[in-house]
Amino acid sequence: MTKIRLTKEFRFEMAHALEGYDGLCRHMHGHSYILTVTIIGEPIQQEGHPKLGMVMDFGDLKRIVNPLIVERFDHAVAVMSNTPTHKKLLDAGFQRIVALPFQPTCENMISYFAQVIMEKLPPTVKLHHLRLHETATSYAEWYASDNL
Ligand SMILES: [Zn+2]
Repeated sequence: MTKIRLTKEFRFEMAHALEGYDGLCRHMHGHSYILTVTIIGEPIQQEGHPKLGMVMDFGDLKRIVNPLIVERFDHAVAVMSNTPTHKKLLDAGFQRIVALPFQPTCENMISYFAQVIMEKLPPTVKLHHLRLHETATSYAEWYASDNL
C-alpha cells in the first residue's frame, strides 16, 4: 500500500512576551504565525466509502486543528502563567490571555501543538511533522521521527 503525506496550512495572529528573555521578544509584540500540519497514511480503498481514495478529508483536518489552535490562539496574547507579565495583563483587564505552563517560544508552542493534534487524529493517520513560522524568515519544526 502506498503511503501519502498530506499538508494543510493554518494562520493566526498572536501576541506574546517572553519573560526574562535577553532579546526583543521580552517586550509584548505580535507575529503572524503560519502552521503547516503534515499527516501520513494510506488512501482509503474501500469501495463505496464516502472518502474513497483519500488519506483524510482536508476538511476533517481543519475541524481538528481550528478549535485546538486557531480559535484559541488567534488574536490572543500568550504568556507563561504566574509570571509578572501574566499578572500585569490580568490586572489591566486584558481579554484573550492564553496562560501556558511554558515560555511561549516557537519551540515550545510547536511541541505543545504536536501533542494536542496527535490526541485528536483518527487512528488511521499519523502526525508526520509540523512547521511553525514565527516570522517570514524563522520557523521551528517538529518531526515524529525525531521524537520516538
Ligand atoms: Zn516574538
